[in-house]
Amino acid sequence: MASSPDVPQSIVLRHVSRHYHRGADEVRALDDVSLSIPAGTFVSFMGPSGSGKSTLLNLICGIDRPTAGEVIVAGRRLDGMTEDQLARWRARHVGLIFQFFNLIPVLSARENVALPLLLCDLDRSERRRRAEIALRVVGLEGRADHTPAMLSGGEQQRVAIARAIVSDPDLLIADEPTGDLDARSAEQVLDLLRTLRIELGKTVVMVTHDPRALRFVDQAYHLDKGLLLEGVDAERARAALDLGLGREPRGGQALAPGGP
Ligand code: ADP
Repeated sequence: MASSPDVPQSIVLRHVSRHYHRGADEVRALDDVSLSIPAGTFVSFMGPSGSGKSTLLNLICGIDRPTAGEVIVAGRRLDGMTEDQLARWRARHVGLIFQFFNLIPVLSARENVALPLLLCDLDRSERRRRAEIALRVVGLEGRADHTPAMLSGGEQQRVAIARAIVSDPDLLIADEPTGDLDARSAEQVLDLLRTLRIELGKTVVMVTHDPRALRFVDQAYHLDKGLLLEGVDAERARAALDLGLGREPRGGQALAPGGP
């Protein structure tokens, strides 16, 4: 997606690489990736295992640093920040959503959602009030007293999404959020993420293998061997996903493997 001077950019990567050394070999987990994601969009990163998706997410949320290049998120350059600065920045700007929900089993939905607020200077009743608002946003106000074991997988993921939004971050990072869900719950979660971007203006960045995601996102990026696919290579990756869904690829033309 082209960068526009008029639209605030939530995420800008400039020539970002992350290389690792494994013995004498150099592993190029990400190689010279540049992109720009406007604020308030829902994007997905797709690609085979080992293509660099987790590496990219870790760089965007400041868990890891690039070997080279610039990472600018919500107006801040992350690659020059200290660990302490990054931790504070993350608590304020990023909500994380994981494949296996990561809820605490002995806590109620309300208590799980309120957990990130322990880092803020709020009293107990205010934490409870905000947790209840977040549960309402995800449509689970009636389940506030349930523990995770009393909830379906889809409901647990929605509680985890409420926890991710409770401190009102600008950016939601979702790592395979539908990977452990049945088809119906997966669609509800994708729909909810889209709603959060439309109604609350969140920027949502998701890594997924789920081809259904293409119907919900504004932009799908494809990675392969640490490279961001562009042009015809990205089209081919998209066409392969469409075929996986049993749909005619967009434009009505299948791109033959290896062609054109
Ligand atoms: P994906 O999330 O798409 O499966 P990753 O970002 O986890 O891919 O990994 C990309 C490549 O980088 C893989 O070849 C992986 O083995 C390598 N890699 C990731 N983390 C490390 C690490 N800490 N040390 C060495 N190699 C790593």
